[in-house]
Amino acid sequence: MSHKGTLYTVSAPSGAGKTSLVSALIKNTDKLCVSVSHTTREQRQGETDGVNYHFVSEQDFLDMLERTEFLEHARVFGNLYGTSQLWVEEQLEKGIDVILEIDWQGAQQVKRQLPATLSIFILPPSRLALLQRLTARGQDDAAVIDGRMAEAVEEMSHYIESDYLVINDNFDQALEELRSVITCQRMSTDRQRQIHMALLDELLS
Ligand code: GDP
Ligand code: ADP
Ligand code: 5GP
Repeated sequence: MSHKGTLYTVSAPSGAGKTSLVSALIKNTDKLCVSVSHTTREQRQGETDGVNYHFVSEQDFLDMLERTEFLEHARVFGNLYGTSQLWVEEQLEKGIDVILEIDWQGAQQVKRQLPATLSIFILPPSRLALLQRLTARGQDDAAVIDGRMAEAVEEMSHYIESDYLVINDNFDQALEELRSVITCQRMSTDRQRQIHMALLDELLS
């Protein structure tokens, strides 16, 4: 199926800054949105159901899985996460670009299903910075942070599979780099042709 919008995956170890970067990016970019995943993880303080995630029980998640409602799904840190296929398809059909903030397993599944998907990887400037950000965020206890640090190397080793790599050292610079990836894709001839069909007809008639 040929989509009008572009699908992006953004992957990073927990704490690298993907949620902060993506939310800043969509605030100032037209026709770009982020998919709200379903998860069985416990809701953190400050998170809102339906905004940060759709928080569901393990049984509800498995029922949705059985009904093949997920474009991709994965177990990360012992919790289930999945992306709603219908919602994503609807946005792309409307010509809206969609970002999936998902782990590397999910990014691989999406690329297999929709090969035109562009993948972006975000890395922290150092291991120490990653630990400091996870700690400073103040939303996970020490055991959870240890677990996430232990998983970080495995997650980060998958950077090589991605189309674009952004190092989140200076936040504003990383944000601009992320924005350039979106702009660059929007300037592609294929995409411009869809948008400027009437102009091209007029110019070439
Ligand atoms: P955070 O990354 O520290 O904000 O922690 P979260 O608990 O929000 O996410 C944990 C991991 O789950 C991250 O690596 C996310 O990329 C991944 N994740 C979130 N939503 C999805 C999803 O819908 N599908 C998949 N495959 N992974 C997801
Ligand atoms: P993720 O979604 O990848 O787990 P978050 O977006 O929650 O990461 O970021 C983790 C923490 O690091 C947050 O407290 C965020 O404000 C902080 N952070 C993000 N980017 C930077 C940066 N460039 N420099 C310093 N701190 C950052
Ligand atoms: P949140 O509200 O999720 O904590 O972060 C979102 C906003 O915080 C972003 O729009 C971004 O401007 C800002 N932000 C988060 N971390 C940093 C950082 O390390 N440096 C800068 N300059 N801004 C940040």
